[in-house]
Amino acid sequence: MSREIHHFVNGKSHTGNSGRYGDVFNPSTGEIQARVQLATTDEVASAVEGAKKGQAVWAAMNPQRRARVLMKYKMLVEAEMDSLAELLSSEHGKVIADAKGDLIRGLEVIEFAMGVPHLLKGEYTESAGTGIDVYSMRQPLGVVAGISPFNFPAMIPMWFMGMALSTGNALVLKPSEKDPSVPVRLAELWMEAGLPEGVLQIVHGDKEAVDALLHHDDIKAVSFVGSSNIAQYIAATCAANGKRFQAMGGAKNHGIIMPDADMDQVVKDFLGAAYGSAGERCMALPVAVPVGKDTADKFVARMKEEAQKLSVGVSNDPDAHYGPVVSAAHKASIENWIGKGVEEGADLLLDGRGFSLQGHEKGFFIGPSLFDNVTTEMTSYQEEIFGPVLQVVRANDLEEAAALPSQHQYGNGVAIFTRNGLAAREFAAKVNVGMVGINVPIPVPVAYHSFGGWKRSAFTDTNQYGTDGIRFFTKIKTVTQRWPSGEIGDQAFVIPTMQ
Ligand code: NAD
Repeated sequence: MSREIHHFVNGKSHTGNSGRYGDVFNPSTGEIQARVQLATTDEVASAVEGAKKGQAVWAAMNPQRRARVLMKYKMLVEAEMDSLAELLSSEHGKVIADAKGDLIRGLEVIEFAMGVPHLLKGEYTESAGTGIDVYSMRQPLGVVAGISPFNFPAMIPMWFMGMALSTGNALVLKPSEKDPSVPVRLAELWMEAGLPEGVLQIVHGDKEAVDALLHHDDIKAVSFVGSSNIAQYIAATCAANGKRFQAMGGAKNHGIIMPDADMDQVVKDFLGAAYGSAGERCMALPVAVPVGKDTADKFVARMKEEAQKLSVGVSNDPDAHYGPVVSAAHKASIENWIGKGVEEGADLLLDGRGFSLQGHEKGFFIGPSLFDNVTTEMTSYQEEIFGPVLQVVRANDLEEAAALPSQHQYGNGVAIFTRNGLAAREFAAKVNVGMVGINVPIPVPVAYHSFGGWKRSAFTDTNQYGTDGIRFFTKIKTVTQRWPSGEIGDQAFVIPTMQ
């Protein structure tokens, strides 16, 4: 019988009783390596109950003491970096270097959140009226939920952990059921770092567990990252239930290549950004938009030559550029999209379908694919493929090129490659997309800025992490105070008015 992955509730591993399980694969071998318990509505409710108790203890600790727990946690994760990356890679399929990147980008948010004593400072107005001062403070929401996707099983849970926990909330995390082991290990490390029990609960599950969180009265806010249709569902359900929400969705990021761009660098950037992590990044660059025929011909020829040299291997092969995709179903979906692209009339220059790795024939591998002459009417262009597939859409000028990401249903990230500062600056100012890279292929903002797309890439008013994260996980209370002296003449209660 395969290994069982349990929930983590009230500071320890918790064996669920639903009798329902999800299979956890090793994508490199195609074999089931574990099964994860899927929580019932009652199991979620009991995790929320424990979280309420933990939250009262945690919120009573001053922010600096909470920050010290974050510092210790960061050191513990760093000390275990190698084994965590190995575990992550074995369930997700991304290569070890990418798995470490997943952990490190998460830790950067923890590092930012250590500044919480400063970040929670409110505002103060002395003498807003005679003898009246006004001050505001940020207080935790209570128990909040985080629901994460499979593609960053460490980074995205750490976005939620850093921001929700530092601000004094308890977090119930529902990680992806496809690669759930790393979040559990991270929770154990939080306990070692001194987090009181109940403050971080992990419930594994599928729609039943998610719905239980969305409908639970004691869940005050939900932070979700995943595909757009589910994100929209999360947003609508939270709104109907009076909960605060932020729901990040899918993406289809464009990289615009101007004729003056450094082509060697551009090709290198696209190899990493389109094919790295098998294209399973919401900030990947699956669409290239070369401007002008010469640029396009040069780019396509160079990409074709270089992409076929990429080495696809098992996730712990140090020489592999990228590993398998997460599941057989996802592999089939990507291969279907490639077929659809051909059917719709795009030119398939490299075909990654039917790729097989010797000795790992059952692994979920796909070779690099490259399409030229893709057009906006094609559904394979309009929809997210989320695989190692690069689509080239040719444009005649910058205006035509810039209209593509601006008009696309998704608006997560976009990049422009050029030596022309003015063109880049104007593009960045005008493009209808949330995160922009100028000669930066994957412009994921650093932890002290914030992460968020536009249009169908995010159903929210607040971004993930950064000061937006602090705002999302706290509520403002404003106090207007007056301390009368009791002396005659101090009775008048004067507040500022139009008179
Ligand atoms: P997904 O939407 O299938 O799953 C995300 C989470 O939702 C998981 O925890 C899953 O268990 C849960 N879920 C799945 N179906 C559900 C349902 N019917 N009802 C309620 N909950 C449900 O996404 P995924 O395949 O795990 O991740 C890939 C997607 O996430 C891609 O679309 C990618 O672009 C997106 N993503 C977006 C960002 C971003 O910040 N915008 C970051 C990473 C990934």
